[in-house]
Amino acid sequence: MPPPYAPPDNFFPLTMSIIVQKFGGTSVADSKKILAAARKAIRAKMDGHQVVTVVSAMGQNTDVLIDLAKQITDNPPPREMDMLLATGEQVSVALMAMAIHSLGHEAISLTGAQIGIITDSTHTKARIHSISTDRIHKYLDRGNIVIAAGFQGIDDAFNITTLGRGGSDTTAVALAAVLGAVSCEIYTDVDGVYTTDPRIMPEARRVAQISYDEMLELASAGAAVMHNRSIEFAKNFSVPVHVRSSFSDVPGTMIVHEPEAPNMAVCGAALSKDEARVTIRGVPDHPGTAHAIFSRIAAKNIPIDMIVQSEGAQGMADMSFSVSRDDLGHIMQVMEEAKKELNAEAVTFDDDVAKVSVVGLGMATQTGVAGAMFTALAEKGINIEMITTSEIKISVLVAREHAVEALRTVHGAFQLSVPPRDCMKHGEGSQAAPMKLDTPTLLRRLEKVAQLERLEKLIIDEIALDETQAMITFVGLADIPGLAAQTFDELAEAGIVVDMIVQSIGRENRADISVTVKRAELEKSLAVAKEIAKSLSCPMPTYAAKVAKLSVFGTGIKSHSGVASRMFRALSESRINLELISTSEVRINVVVDGACGARALAALKKEFADSLVSGNGE
Ligand code: ASP
Ligand code: MG
Repeated sequence: MPPPYAPPDNFFPLTMSIIVQKFGGTSVADSKKILAAARKAIRAKMDGHQVVTVVSAMGQNTDVLIDLAKQITDNPPPREMDMLLATGEQVSVALMAMAIHSLGHEAISLTGAQIGIITDSTHTKARIHSISTDRIHKYLDRGNIVIAAGFQGIDDAFNITTLGRGGSDTTAVALAAVLGAVSCEIYTDVDGVYTTDPRIMPEARRVAQISYDEMLELASAGAAVMHNRSIEFAKNFSVPVHVRSSFSDVPGTMIVHEPEAPNMAVCGAALSKDEARVTIRGVPDHPGTAHAIFSRIAAKNIPIDMIVQSEGAQGMADMSFSVSRDDLGHIMQVMEEAKKELNAEAVTFDDDVAKVSVVGLGMATQTGVAGAMFTALAEKGINIEMITTSEIKISVLVAREHAVEALRTVHGAFQLSVPPRDCMKHGEGSQAAPMKLDTPTLLRRLEKVAQLERLEKLIIDEIALDETQAMITFVGLADIPGLAAQTFDELAEAGIVVDMIVQSIGRENRADISVTVKRAELEKSLAVAKEIAKSLSCPMPTYAAKVAKLSVFGTGIKSHSGVASRMFRALSESRINLELISTSEVRINVVVDGACGARALAALKKEFADSLVSGNGE
């Protein structure tokens, strides 16, 4: 047991609140912009706050540095790469401090090392272990604005490290967390978070507020607003984040625990245009197959999404997943090896697909959301090639030529341009009044910081077992637009609540759709399912009356590579076969045979024992 937490002597947020402001590359792209950023910092100070600003490298400077390295060698040593890239931020902190001085105020610039941002030694994508705040507090108490270099840290052996592209966001939120800041303002070239990318859809709406989980899912689904790890930080330590424009004073978007409107099923839609689908056909449908495939991929650190397993012929299965098109070459090598090891039939890919996702906390408690999405796409004649759902996200793969139309269609179907009626807590109103966190919340946050031995550690909040479900699989449906829509319309009409949905393309352009339903509703669901199959003239659906669903949820599930793979390994070692898999930023679900539920739960609890927090603090 750690000793009871005592707040630092200089902790008095009621009289002096700390604000962290972060200025991205475009916000400090030239001297004029640096002066404008300096004025924002000074204004916050004049408002009575202590101010820490985090700055990124000017404009495209990081790209320029990367390009320079590439002119020397294709394979720069990662340590030297970090040494090089960290200079970008060192330039901007110095200039920013000079700018503040020139405007008549005290400021001091500090590098990551000078602040004491200690990271692991994974060069070019290091994770933060700890931050010492003494030095910053000392300068703040003397009346300085502290200018901190974003994106960089130092490892135990004094090597300079960087946090990965876009990492200044993470520096900013991390500083806000450990300093007990009341707010973290992210100044950028957009004025907030939109329901979808406004460059693709001008009618997209800026949301006043969004929850951490929604932001995490949207970001990984293709909405490039903030570094995902920064949102994980914010969520873990309850840091309110205000995303807003450097070039205007309009209030932007608050990222907090609560969604904008509690009853809204969908808060945003995202498009990831350059995706590929990879399928390995004819792998043995027995324990260990998923592990054999995904451990290889995890070992190479290639992020994948939308994992789908479908029944093949004679006890064999096909597995598909989506991957960024950039990683296709790399992953096909890995898959060829897996094919040999598993004696699989073939590995195929389609690199002409795009992923469209909708996200919303509200969909966890509402029915018919997936059906509405599929119907809207069907009405436009857009074929869905793959589906996966998690509690707060639905993703589909469509042909790339339909990508933008598909995005437009779902954005319209959920009326995302229309502000919700029952919304708004923070960020409203004309002024940028930062949300005030109360002292107990701040103290709780600092206590958590003090107790975590590594700040960016993988945190598993819970591992849950749900034994109330059954699974139905529609096999061999013709792969034409409208099929998923019809299936879900009819299930919804019969009042059947569907939980997980997974659709894959099977053989000869036939699709399989698996769904889980409440076991109590199995009979009723099967009757409807048979009718659906009849009307689509496809084989009778198969089912498993007793399945167990295991969910691992927490923070860093995707950004820490290998969580899914550890999960598959643990299950494989317990000889447990996987039926369905779905992954998201905040949780991984697997469905296994109903007889294995308790064993699977025990295996997972053991595997993740060191990351599992009991009773999640806040
Ligand atoms: N300068 C770094 C980059 O461009 C870090 C950042 O901007 O957040 O990735
Ligand atoms: Mg940047």
